[in-house]
Amino acid sequence: MYFCRLFCNQILKKADIETIKDILSSPKKMVIVTHYNPDGDAIGSSLALLLYLQQYKHQVSVLVPNSLPDYLTWMPESENILIATEQLDICKEKIEEADIIFCLDFNAFNRVGQMQEFLEQSKTFKILIDHHISPMKYFNLKYSLTDKTSSTSELVYRLIVEKLADKKHFTKAMAECLYVGIMTDTGSMSYSCNNPSTYRVLSALVDYKIDGEKIHRRVYDTYSESRLHLLGYCLFKKLVVLKEFSTSYMLLTKADLDFYNYQQGDTEGIVNYGLSIKEVRFTAFFTERDDRVRISFRSKGNFDVNVLAKQYFNGGGHKNAAGGNFYGNIYDAVNLLLKILPSYKEQLNQPWDD
Ligand code: 5GP
Ligand code: MN
Repeated sequence: MYFCRLFCNQILKKADIETIKDILSSPKKMVIVTHYNPDGDAIGSSLALLLYLQQYKHQVSVLVPNSLPDYLTWMPESENILIATEQLDICKEKIEEADIIFCLDFNAFNRVGQMQEFLEQSKTFKILIDHHISPMKYFNLKYSLTDKTSSTSELVYRLIVEKLADKKHFTKAMAECLYVGIMTDTGSMSYSCNNPSTYRVLSALVDYKIDGEKIHRRVYDTYSESRLHLLGYCLFKKLVVLKEFSTSYMLLTKADLDFYNYQQGDTEGIVNYGLSIKEVRFTAFFTERDDRVRISFRSKGNFDVNVLAKQYFNGGGHKNAAGGNFYGNIYDAVNLLLKILPSYKEQLNQPWDD
């Protein structure tokens, strides 16, 4: 942990704050790029920053690698987001023309799909705002806090109001966006939120008279009927519990997804059910995609899924929530997990509720 505080957290220095103020002071072309399969935090933090920058007359575009889930399309300015899988040339042009590139809610270029090579080739000044462990070196300025921070959305608030002391440019619409980000990245304040700062920021957002209950309904009570059937199918037919390893997993093939008319975002959150069993402290959720197998990992307590995802599944994330990729057959992906589980047996069988 001490190591992480020293090397993972990139606190803004006075000079960094002055650099950002200087950047803001004259109109520029800017892009905000966020990660593949953008979630509530990716979109919420990006749109809040967009709304902020627009007030300074910058020309700003939000670029996402692939489309956003339906439950986020009500958000302000979401209709103007550029989607790389649909408008790759425009995204390329925007990145090439930009004077400043903001990278939000990811720590490495391999998280931005087809835009990866544009970012790699770009020499433009890049500002990272993120909460994932071990950000890569190639960002020019980093505001990256991994502990005692819920989300990138929380950091966007702290940047604008606390670091830049610019509360007068903070608006209700921005508060709504950031509320979405904090709410979704903490599972409605159930994990990654044991931090006074998270509640301080939430309290400040609610002061803008946002309707947190309505926002929750818009995000969590707008699923399609087929998504609910898919969830039911997963829980009833696909959940495997391995008591010996305090582990559970589920897998969905492409045929399963097709049968339930899969739409982007439909599998979001299903992984958490695998962890909700008392005896389970680690769960994995495999889904078969066109070009790979996507895996979501969740854990309780000190079992570190970020390390496991990085070491075996070309991924990463946080201690208790990480994602990974397997380039091959979905059953081989599951078999790889089954093969490595014995080496974690002792850790997995330790009590987590201490
Ligand atoms: P999810 O399982 O919800 O897709 O992802 C859980 C967490 O892991 C998120 O914070 C996400 O940003 C991170 N994550 C997911 N996939 C990857 C990946 O391939 N690489 C890295 N570094 N992080 C990931
Ligand atoms: Mn996030």
